[in-house]
Amino acid sequence: MQPKNIRRKTIQEDSDLLKRNQMQKTKEDKKFSSNTDTPQVEYPLNPTKIIDKDYLRMIRNKKEDFDQYEPDSHAEIGNSKIFVVVRKRPLSKKEQMNGEIDNISVINPRVTVHECKIKVDGITKYLEDHQFYFDNTFGENETTQEIYDYTVGPMIEMVLNKGIVTCFAYGQTGSGKTYTMKGIQNLAIDNIFEECKNIYGQDNNLSFYISFFEIYGGRLYDLLNNKNKLQVLDDQNGKTQIYGLQEMLAETPDEMRMIIDKGNSVRTTHNTVTNATSSRSHAICNIIIKEKNKKKNNYNFFGKLSLVDLAGSERAQET
Ligand code: ADP
Repeated sequence: MQPKNIRRKTIQEDSDLLKRNQMQKTKEDKKFSSNTDTPQVEYPLNPTKIIDKDYLRMIRNKKEDFDQYEPDSHAEIGNSKIFVVVRKRPLSKKEQMNGEIDNISVINPRVTVHECKIKVDGITKYLEDHQFYFDNTFGENETTQEIYDYTVGPMIEMVLNKGIVTCFAYGQTGSGKTYTMKGIQNLAIDNIFEECKNIYGQDNNLSFYISFFEIYGGRLYDLLNNKNKLQVLDDQNGKTQIYGLQEMLAETPDEMRMIIDKGNSVRTTHNTVTNATSSRSHAICNIIIKEKNKKKNNYNFFGKLSLVDLAGSERAQET
């Protein structure tokens, strides 16, 4: 009998809490509608859903505890063949307005997901922490520059020395892949020209070319050439080549930026819940370095940086 009594009492309490939340929400809604400025609150008013105040309080407390931990300084990429970093983006205004709760804590090199759970008694709420470790993790207050400095940045020297480097952005639609990748592209452009001058001097035999294509629905399209359909073929050496892919010469950082912007602007996008123009294709942007052979008056491959913005990972099974 006793457990039943306890259960009834708690349900009553829960329903009181629900009513109080509802009243609070109505009060907040009124305040919001009479205020023309966007309110500056951390977890703002929620016109459509009820925020679970218990979980919200528990997560806030948990995050305060986590704030006490000192993050490790970011690891250098060194000689790693594969280096995996995670970036957490802040909740968007829309997500905040929908009453979504930020339940992720980032303390380099760890990401902790505070999962909201209910005990088997069906009443008691608690958080279950899941920890994930990566080479580096970046919180919402860290900039794209910081991410660049610990990922693509240190690789530029290798790219300028006959190396091939690829950076993939992977994650669910709306998680911030394109946002981060566009920033990385911009930083890489300036960096590669500057580093080339530092290593080989102003007068050198190196030229920069851009190719940019997307894979959409299993087909390849050239983003720098009217979205022409491309073919993947094997050459006489058994190496896979993309037949007909345009390579555009970029003589200055501004020229390279213009070419890449052009490619980004014609990518195939769709509207999604999280993002008004979400990318639904894999976009592969190659910065290719070629060396001029003065005697033969031709260009030889000298290095390549590929920046790959993958389509939302929820589509991974299709591709
Ligand atoms: P994806 O390419 O993974 O579908 P987007 O890069 O388009 O996602 O990002 C979704 C939304 O989140 C965009 O409106 C973008 O401006 C915003 N966003 C992503 N990352 C950040 C960030 N680190 N800081 C602020 N806003 C971000």
